[in-house]
Amino acid sequence: MKIYNFISGSKGNSTLVRCDDYNILIDIGNTKKYLLECLSNINLTLEDIDIILITHFHTDHFKEAKYLEDLNIYSRLNKHHDLSINKDNIFNDVIIKPFKLSHDDECYGYQIKDNNEVYTHISDTGLLKEEYYKYIKEADYLYLEFNHDPQLLQRTDRPALVKRRISSTKGHLSNQEAAVILAQSNGKLKDLLVAHISEEANDIDVIAQEINKVFNDFEKEIDFNIQYTGFMKVSSCGKESDK
Ligand SMILES: [Zn+2]
Repeated sequence: MKIYNFISGSKGNSTLVRCDDYNILIDIGNTKKYLLECLSNINLTLEDIDIILITHFHTDHFKEAKYLEDLNIYSRLNKHHDLSINKDNIFNDVIIKPFKLSHDDECYGYQIKDNNEVYTHISDTGLLKEEYYKYIKEADYLYLEFNHDPQLLQRTDRPALVKRRISSTKGHLSNQEAAVILAQSNGKLKDLLVAHISEEANDIDVIAQEINKVFNDFEKEIDFNIQYTGFMKVSSCGKESDK
């Protein structure tokens, strides 16, 4: 299994999970041009995408969808391609399990299993129910939102209503919230993709400090790689199969 993050944050979100027999794209939150460029960088085209999973329908996750009409988009708006929630959806060797997050639009996280490897994708959620911690515990590769630092968020000139929305239980995970969830549920993680980082209300050094502090408090070791996702930057982890 190999993971490529093409873009993450308010400018768009799109992640490719390459399994042995399936290429699974999670979210299409930027232009077609951008997606094609990212795919061509790894020698793929749109035709190589087998499944598209949509987390939710905010424009940074779902944009210009018309050009993908002939592809297999699995979402709640597409009755022909609906996945069962909290259940195993089986595509030969690949198992996809969607679970509901807490956001101001109906939003899903995904766990993808292939060949004993597990990828878990969690973004755009104000909280994570404890019953879903197992998806992190089982993950080799984890995409987890570290959206904002509460103090930096307060210092931005965003309207009070927006600030309240972001920090609410139907908004986004702060650095501290995400780090605590991770410290409590980390099991066999190899790579962490730090995701959906706010440009205005966050900073990579602040995130790193927070993760260190929280893991220290929990007396846990950081025994996985950490990558910070962003704009115009392909981050990847895992390894492609030889097939
Ligand atoms: Zn959203």
